[in-house]
Amino acid sequence: MGSSGIIFDIKKFAVHDGPGIRTTVFLKGCPLRCAWCHNPEGIAAGPEIAVFADRCVKGCRDCLAACPRGALKKVRGIILLDRSLCDGCGACAEICSAEALRSAGRTVSVPEIMEEVARDIPFYRESGGGVTFSGGEPLAQPAFLRELLLDCRARGIHAVVDTSGHAPFSLFEELLPLVDLFLFDLKVIDDESHRRFTGVSNRLILENLEKLSCSGAPLSVRVPLIPGVNDADRDLKAMAEFRDALPGRHPLHLLPYHRGYAAKRLRLGLDAVLPDTAPPSGELQERAGKIFAGNGSTVIIGG
Ligand code: SF4
Ligand code: SF4
Repeated sequence: MGSSGIIFDIKKFAVHDGPGIRTTVFLKGCPLRCAWCHNPEGIAAGPEIAVFADRCVKGCRDCLAACPRGALKKVRGIILLDRSLCDGCGACAEICSAEALRSAGRTVSVPEIMEEVARDIPFYRESGGGVTFSGGEPLAQPAFLRELLLDCRARGIHAVVDTSGHAPFSLFEELLPLVDLFLFDLKVIDDESHRRFTGVSNRLILENLEKLSCSGAPLSVRVPLIPGVNDADRDLKAMAEFRDALPGRHPLHLLPYHRGYAAKRLRLGLDAVLPDTAPPSGELQERAGKIFAGNGSTVIIGG
């Protein structure tokens, strides 16, 4: 026991990541590259620097002196980071009192996280909540996740794993007895589109979803609703048919796309991938909701 892993955030009092009031722990690293990813700081496995250029103080050069790799420079008063030189050490973020440079990702031990999580046990008990492990893809750090889940079990804390589903099924099998609920993403049913918008085939994901459902695992299916990606009737119906054919009955959450991720991507030096995509209209959300509720299943719009 006592291993460490890399996380990029801990969100307290979360109400959209499973039942009740929860603490959500975001683990870093993901095998997918979803064009709409709302947590782009969770994609890379290692620590990285987010640049809030508008906070940089005129005349200050503290971080330039602190950087051991010469990765930072200021050009006409604007702070610039050469990511090809940066190893994410975080020295610049530590010295920047203006918080213009912030570390996305830090190494933490299981006891450190659980100490933070355990502070809110009274709220979990009162609300039927607990802890949610999200990301990134939490199964990308399997030994770390397993220890966190074991500790939750030992303390009687309800544990949710929010997953892209892209991991060997043997990992799901190993974790099954320790997980109270899986939040399982079903993003795009057409494999070619899935590859185009996420960077990987959906074959393993669909197989895992079927096997997990077959195993009787408690799970909710989460579908991001993204205009121009998966909002055509044929796509929504194909996803609904797939969900309806699963052996278990699982509630479905429709997660409307929003643009909040674009600024985060820019701060990490990433281009916006869907710059012209607008959030789904109320009419589209209603239509999609009706398609997924076709067999009488529960459909929840939102987290
Ligand atoms: S330490 Fe912060 S405020 Fe100073 S130059 Fe660097 S980014 Fe700007
Ligand atoms: S994280 Fe380290 S290497 Fe990267 S810019 Fe900051 S000080 Fe330099």
